Amino acid sequence: MSDESPGETTLTIVGPERPRLLIVDDEPVNVQTLYQVFQSRCEVIVATNGHKALELCLAQKPDLVLLDVVMPEIDGLEVCRRLKSNPATRDIPVLFVTAQDSPEEETQGLEVGAVDFISKPINPAVVRARVNTQLTLKAQTDFLRSLAFIDGLTGVANRRQYNERLATEWRACQRSGKPLGLIMIDVDFFKFYNDHYGHEAGDDCLRAVSRRLKELPMRSRDLLARYGGEEFVLLMPEADLDGTRRMAELIRGGIEDLAIPHSASTAAEVVTASLGAASLVPDEDLEARQLQAEADRLLYEAKRQGRNRVAG
Ligand code: GH3
Ligand code: MG
Ligand code: MG
Repeated sequence: MSDESPGETTLTIVGPERPRLLIVDDEPVNVQTLYQVFQSRCEVIVATNGHKALELCLAQKPDLVLLDVVMPEIDGLEVCRRLKSNPATRDIPVLFVTAQDSPEEETQGLEVGAVDFISKPINPAVVRARVNTQLTLKAQTDFLRSLAFIDGLTGVANRRQYNERLATEWRACQRSGKPLGLIMIDVDFFKFYNDHYGHEAGDDCLRAVSRRLKELPMRSRDLLARYGGEEFVLLMPEADLDGTRRMAELIRGGIEDLAIPHSASTAAEVVTASLGAASLVPDEDLEARQLQAEADRLLYEAKRQGRNRVAG
């Protein structure tokens, strides 16, 4: 077994070397104090208002937010509420740092999704300990999530993550009236590859193919996943049929250019793949699985026409 296989995944939980900590407070002196406490251990980023805090959470995905409650414009409670209602920032833990420590306020904070409270003026030892606890929990959660949503052999998204994303992107494109593109990618004669070169070499080949796929010029909402076996899938929100086909052709060429010898293939002398490229504007009468079925049908068509080609 290779060192990337799920069977040998180490269970030691190691967080990032320098976890990223966002400090949010409208009083520069408070920011400064917290900065001093954490700068040696964490990569500290800073915001002095709620808008900036939300922006930084989206762009930089901190591992933990230390959030002031009372701030002008949007206060800490509202910032937390917005973070928790956005899937992109929902998993970032929020720890309130507050001058008033009434039970009401604490309850409110916990209700909007905070994980803990620290009262001001801060005690460095207490804050450090509380923050450490949350960072450890965050590292553990990230690790477990990565096992649940990442394919162990190739490191790309797994089928579960793909299924979830297909459902959410289908709904998003339904609302926006934009198309959703889908490419099914299936390595040609891969059973023969295994038979001829061995299963280990087969695994290496799948890793090489996925590395090449990861290098493609993808947009932030695109999702590459291992669909199963020697099949990959690329989900492309807002890509029309033309764009989806173009990407599929890029993938086909990219895999062929790897020039991995495959003497047992009748499609080419190297490893190749066949692709089905589909794109639909999801309307009321359609379901996501119809897009999937269409991409599957086209993949089969590409196989039938001789492999190492795109049908779409
Ligand atoms: P086609 O061109 O029609 O797609 O033929 P194929 O041989 O690629 O298709 P088939 O579905 O018959 O065989 C797929 C093979 O992929 C069979 C299986 O042993 C192999 N395979 C699936 N998952 C893995 C894996 O994780 N590692 C390796 N090495 N092989 C795998
Ligand atoms: Mg297959
Ligand atoms: Mg195949």
